[in-house]
Amino acid sequence: MRYHNITKDDMSNGDGLRVVLWVAGCNHCCRECQNPVTWDPYGGLPFDEAARQEIFEQLDKNYISGITFSGGDPLHPANSLGVRKLCEEIRQRYPRKTIWLYTGDVWEDVRNHPVMRYVDVLVDGEFRVEEGDVKLLWKGSKNQRVIDVQETLDSENPAVPVLHCPDYFEGVAD
Ligand code: SF4
Repeated sequence: MRYHNITKDDMSNGDGLRVVLWVAGCNHCCRECQNPVTWDPYGGLPFDEAARQEIFEQLDKNYISGITFSGGDPLHPANSLGVRKLCEEIRQRYPRKTIWLYTGDVWEDVRNHPVMRYVDVLVDGEFRVEEGDVKLLWKGSKNQRVIDVQETLDSENPAVPVLHCPDYFEGVAD
């Protein structure tokens, strides 16, 4: 697994203040993607022990709510195993912190991925510029969904995602 950046005290990629890992590698090629530099799975830097420790130092802080995996696509074949192992370790070391993951894949295609046992919130789907709206909550375009993964997996029909939040902050739409 390779990565481009680790951002800290991030307020734009999930609830609370978060550490965000921006991985390298994405096959979705969404039009007007904001991070095309992250598409190349050979770009960025190797995710090494120093990067791992940098993330744990952030998660050690009481005020950090959790980690968000973004990119790039954390479920790209170059990242999928590394992300799963890191999620497993974070879940063990920090059981009270939340794990969010942004992917261009849709829930229906990834709901059986082994990483889902660790993910609290999944933001799914490709960015569609024609459905884009900067006021949307935690997502870039209307087709994407902010999914409560554990609620969904525990529900009667896990094929139908249970949403974590509405499309907009209360009262913000139009
Ligand atoms: S899935 Fe995300 S990173 Fe990949 S092309 Fe689409 S917007 Fe860009």
